Amino acid sequence: MKRLFICIFLGFFLGITSVIVTHEILKNKRIATFVESVETSITEEPVEPVILEPEKPVYAKIFDEDENMTEETFLISEKEIKIPVLLYHEFYEEEPDKKLYGSVSTPEKFEKDLLNIVGEGFKVISLNRMIDYKNGVKGIPKNSVVITFDDGYMSNYTLIYPILKKYKIPATIFIIEDLLGTEGYMTWEEAQIMNGEGLVTIYSHGFSHVDMTSLMPNDFASKISNNFAKMEEMLGKPEHLVYSYPYGFYNKETNTILKDMGVEAVMTTDKGLNDVKDLEAGIIRRDYVAYNFSGLKILRILNGK
Ligand SMILES: [Zn+2]
Repeated sequence: MKRLFICIFLGFFLGITSVIVTHEILKNKRIATFVESVETSITEEPVEPVILEPEKPVYAKIFDEDENMTEETFLISEKEIKIPVLLYHEFYEEEPDKKLYGSVSTPEKFEKDLLNIVGEGFKVISLNRMIDYKNGVKGIPKNSVVITFDDGYMSNYTLIYPILKKYKIPATIFIIEDLLGTEGYMTWEEAQIMNGEGLVTIYSHGFSHVDMTSLMPNDFASKISNNFAKMEEMLGKPEHLVYSYPYGFYNKETNTILKDMGVEAVMTTDKGLNDVKDLEAGIIRRDYVAYNFSGLKILRILNGK
């Protein structure tokens, strides 16, 4: 009896171990392939665009070539749309104080998060690409994920931008007009450099970091319209009109005002994956990634668990 128990226990233990080991081997292989593909992507042949038959129930009709599109590219059906959008804020070179874990991370941890995401088989796409997809213009890979940063901290430029460039990872930074150039925040020039180089897109997080739902509708409309004009003056015509709500606070009225202005998507802090309904409404969910989130915790977020 005792021997049988030991056998069952050993079998169970070996089974679990082999699953974990296989997962780790696969993950490390994906990371190695990813790093290698980043290094060789300049010489890579462009992928042929694929056009689907019109009767296929897909959201996006075509995809074109770009650095994220490889033979692994899929066209996905509406049912399969479940896009995680991750949210970061500020970064310190040293480990942040525990109470700041939710909003401050380090470049080392961010790089680890990135490799973990890629290692788990996810593809980082730009927010613009997700909106093209929502508009039915372009396809996206299966297991797409979008990375965003709120507030426009200087550390996004000094500590994170080099990592994004190293791995050619697209990202979107939402800046606050009246904080630009103040202590700890990036300058217009830094925003222009990143936006101009193409890997990072800069969009608005408001003229000020205030709760937009606390403003009178007319006041909100005129201030936000001036803010969009300033963004365009400083950064050029945006590819899409996207807005991120300070504190994630929004209501029906603010959404309607922005929609009437031509805003295609608003970024919230409502957690969860974005399905077809979220995309169509243009009200985008985001999950923040804290400094103490493990690879497993991030994997759960990416899978909506
Ligand atoms: Zn914010």
